[in-house]
Amino acid sequence: MNADNAPVLIAGGGPVGLLCAWLLGRRGLRVRLFDNNREPQADPRAATTHPATLELLAEDGLAEDMARVGLVAPIFQFWDRPSGELVAQFDHGLLKNDTRYPYVVQCEQFKTAKLILDRLGKLPNVEVLFGHEVTEVTQTSGAVTVEVRGPQGVKSHAGSYLIGADGGRSVVRKQCGIPFEGFTWPERFIVLTTPYDFEAERGYCYRSYFADPGAWCNCFKVSADGPPGLWRTVFPAGAEEPEADIMSDAGVQARIQSFFPSPRPYEIVHRNLYVTHQRVAETFRKGRVLLAGDSAHVNNPIGGMGLNGGIQDAANLCEKLAQILLESASDKILDLYSRQRRAVAVEFVQEQSIANKKRLEAREPEARARNLGELRDIAADPARARQFLLRSSMLTSQKRAAAMTLVPPI
Ligand SMILES: Cc1cc2nc3c(=O)[nH]c(=O)nc-3n(C[C@H](O)[C@H](O)[C@H](O)COP(=O)(O)OP(=O)(O)OC[C@H]3O[C@@H](n4cnc5c(N)ncnc54)[C@H](O)[C@@H]3O)c2cc1C
Repeated sequence: MNADNAPVLIAGGGPVGLLCAWLLGRRGLRVRLFDNNREPQADPRAATTHPATLELLAEDGLAEDMARVGLVAPIFQFWDRPSGELVAQFDHGLLKNDTRYPYVVQCEQFKTAKLILDRLGKLPNVEVLFGHEVTEVTQTSGAVTVEVRGPQGVKSHAGSYLIGADGGRSVVRKQCGIPFEGFTWPERFIVLTTPYDFEAERGYCYRSYFADPGAWCNCFKVSADGPPGLWRTVFPAGAEEPEADIMSDAGVQARIQSFFPSPRPYEIVHRNLYVTHQRVAETFRKGRVLLAGDSAHVNNPIGGMGLNGGIQDAANLCEKLAQILLESASDKILDLYSRQRRAVAVEFVQEQSIANKKRLEAREPEARARNLGELRDIAADPARARQFLLRSSMLTSQKRAAAMTLVPPI
């Protein structure tokens, strides 16, 4: 078969797969996307979208639409929970000469997915097939084929390339035999969502990180169904705690009250428990198969970098696939995709998300004093604060990837 006439296949209709479909589809390429869910997922995971990612979503006003349905958050804070001290505050306004988006946008990932799906509905060259599970992947030098279980049974689909955007347990990655090295945190992460207004009642901004020797907490606001919005609190839950206890009414009240005591019980509108990993695929390319998003890398959510990395993968990869399929560029640029995005995952996202967690959970008084003192000093020095923000907003890592060349320097 002539692979160039076949569609690009995408396994996974989470935000990364959908974005790939849109970035390819809007350039006129044929795309067929499969997702095993009957409809788009609605679970409350990612919200924070960093400046480096917003820059990539500027096409067709997507970043602006996300800000419209989400919240604009220029500031984030670090607090010492035992003393109640505001240790450091960072304002993205310091990046006003570095990016046209000197803020993060808090937009829940299901809303981002919905904004992309609306755009896909206008592209006749893109097929989005929910209720379709990719079960097998094979490839030759000329094409890639997937077996897909759908409502009408199992069918084969041939494509020019396959993007595995099928999440952390990726079938595509496993079918290609790509190792996913790293580790799993022993504690789980519990997300408790409440309408309690942490800004009005306690003076916390839309993204607040709390250090505590007994635990840690991220507390951030999402717009939900519109004003006044909801607050999500994320805590560690010990490996030894039974899930039924963690998730019980008494368990969730005890956890949130122990951190933020209140005379009234908290109204909890969602409770979700996640096992969290730090892993990166050995390669993001095997022949005509490319990995993007959580199928390629997973990390803890402190700092909000997982989906941001996935969106950056999608933008990088789709640009290169379009060059190959529309401008006859060499497919060697897909090796560059793998090297660029793997370097970002390993050198920045893994390193920083682990450091973020360790900073908040440190127990020894000297380590705590050192960590918090360092944050205080960085925030007080505008030049150091700018460097800190360039890194946390993922602009530094994007620059690092852009500087990589096709042939690695010897
Ligand atoms: C509590 C929490 C908070 C987070 N907060 C942030 C944040 O603020 N910022 C951030 O950047 N990241 C955050 N993340 C990470 C973020 O949620 C993930 O990185 C993101 O969901 C990855 O998107 P994805 O499209 O790659 O994968 P997924 O969202 O997992 O989507 C994969 C899709 O593929 C489908 N699928 C799976 N297998 C198959 C198959 N065989 N065939 C067809 N379809 C298949 C799945 O059903 C799913 O729809 C957070 C994560 C958690 C747990």
